[in-house]
Amino acid sequence: MGHNHDHESGQIPLTAICLVSILLGALADYSVLLPENLAVIFYVIAYISGGYHGFKETIEHLRNFELNIDFLMIAAALGAAVLGEWIEGAILLFLFSLSGALESYALGKSRNAIHSLLKLRPSQGLLIKPDGTEKLTPIEQLKVGDTVLVKPGEYIPIDGEILKGQTTVDQSAITGESIPVTKEIGDSVFAATLNENGVIELKVTKPAKDTTVAKIIDLVESAQKNRAKTQRLLDTFEPRYAISVVVAVLGLIFIPWLFLGHEFDSTFYRAMTVLVVASPCALIISTPASIISAIANGAKNGVLFKGGAYVEQAVGIDTIAFDKTGTLTKGKPEVTDLIAYDAKTDRFSTDEESKKYLIAVAAGCEQYSEHHLAEAIMKFANETHAEPFKAENMKAIPGQGVEAEINGKQVAVGNLKMFTKQIEGWSKSIRKKAEELRKLGNTVVFVAEQNVPIGLIALADKVRPQSKKTIVKLRKMGIRKIVMLTGDNADVAQAIAGDLWIDEIHADLLPEQKVEVLNRLKKTGTVAMVGDGVNDAPALALSHLGIAMGAAGTDVALETADVVLMGDDLEKIPYMLWLTRKARRVVWQNISFSLAVIVMLLAGVFLIDLPLTAGVIGHEGSTLLVVLNGLRLLRKGG
Ligand code: ADP
Ligand code: MG
Repeated sequence: MGHNHDHESGQIPLTAICLVSILLGALADYSVLLPENLAVIFYVIAYISGGYHGFKETIEHLRNFELNIDFLMIAAALGAAVLGEWIEGAILLFLFSLSGALESYALGKSRNAIHSLLKLRPSQGLLIKPDGTEKLTPIEQLKVGDTVLVKPGEYIPIDGEILKGQTTVDQSAITGESIPVTKEIGDSVFAATLNENGVIELKVTKPAKDTTVAKIIDLVESAQKNRAKTQRLLDTFEPRYAISVVVAVLGLIFIPWLFLGHEFDSTFYRAMTVLVVASPCALIISTPASIISAIANGAKNGVLFKGGAYVEQAVGIDTIAFDKTGTLTKGKPEVTDLIAYDAKTDRFSTDEESKKYLIAVAAGCEQYSEHHLAEAIMKFANETHAEPFKAENMKAIPGQGVEAEINGKQVAVGNLKMFTKQIEGWSKSIRKKAEELRKLGNTVVFVAEQNVPIGLIALADKVRPQSKKTIVKLRKMGIRKIVMLTGDNADVAQAIAGDLWIDEIHADLLPEQKVEVLNRLKKTGTVAMVGDGVNDAPALALSHLGIAMGAAGTDVALETADVVLMGDDLEKIPYMLWLTRKARRVVWQNISFSLAVIVMLLAGVFLIDLPLTAGVIGHEGSTLLVVLNGLRLLRKGG
């Protein structure tokens, strides 16, 4: 049966032809309306239409010298034909084909959750050419830097930055955030989001194949390939089991007949019944039917699993490590203090001129950094009308800061670690000032020119409103240990942790030290890491389950994580745990149910001579139930 997940087009009409042929065959067989000798012809048609897909599957497996359940089903149907029990064989193939069609339907339904995203993305955008004329252009032909016009009520065709106009955008398809967001000149917008009320002109920032929505779709598509562990186990078990069934059935045919003197027809009939009921159709479908439904439920609710394996992996999590900035906090720090400093006089300068110079240097350095702090500094420069200096050779040092060259001078912006060598030579007053600001819960960065400090920038970030609620929920769900990891300093970490109910705070970490802490945590538990930035990528990759915040965030985090939360909503983490735990329960219900049915039907065959028809119905009925049970996971809840 189609435990291959390809959409079997044509399976539904073939199944219908099979059913009609069975009915006509029965009419010919048991009534006077049709001549009796036509019956076999109808049954043969039923066999061909009902068995077509299974036969194709069987051939594919036989080419690899493998047996599968499709082979068992075809063999049983042919066996029934040998016995002259055409109608039973035909019913078997019909039900078999029906459950295959239903499975395809179910899988198709799961996929729709994702493909509805594709439907939202228009296939064309209104390109504005340099000469001002407009032309509808397929999105694949839009190039980075092109200008595209989007009218109110239209879906945005491509990722871009607003050049002209102002609007509100419903980004729920990408971020899961249902409240529309105001967008102005300079703001980024995403393909497949809805432009609600303004006419906007965009500068294209990504080609169609690299947009966030394209990444999300790729990611979910590849999720189907990364199978759950249970399923991989079942997949390796299937061919071996199929061979055992064949051997047992051959034994059941020949041993009683040759050695015990039983009649061939009845032993063969019984062997065919065994062949049907012992086939593990329900067992094989038990896991994919459930896991794929769970993945689809997640996708609908803004939680993207990169594979079935991670649905199972999430169930065992007992330790969660949160990155601070951008994860527990909003990741939108604001400049709270700007302290200009003159090293020659060892004095803080209060004049506007020095402050403007300080921020212009810092902003010059930070121009190309994607760090939250860089964004805050750029925003502040913009607000205070300080024109950032042109910088060259900019280099980001993760967990420390950035350096660059401005007007031929070596400039650096960063924390204490960035200046470990130089700081000894700096005066007490600036170090003390930094200390004071830190104690107030600020993140403090130094700005230095040729290794000489020219000032301090203090920034503060706010805790997300959902952080506390989420942590309480996670504890109620049995998470033992909650840890905060941050590259920021300990004072800030303490201030943010406040009453969040965090067991351990690890501050002042470089990205590679985050990895060390994670390795230690892994010794005592199954660890999920939640992070959002480039600096979290190594830890995300190393954890048992890497969870990235915000599909619209950093690409690296998105690529290394195992699960992506589309929005910035931390509460999706308890939801994800709930969903995966439920999925695991359904998988085990399915597995134990299908095994129980096999055992019961087998007992029936040997103890009460269960007829083939009853075996067919019991066997295929259980397969349908297992598929339907898996589909329950499509329902929302939580
Ligand atoms: P977190 O782990 O909290 O997300 P990071 O590891 O990204 O933080 O950064 C840790 C620290 O390194 C920051 O608090 C800041 O002091 C410094 N830093 C990193 N990048 C920059 C930058 N672009 N500009 C200034 N300081 C930076
Ligand atoms: Mg971060």
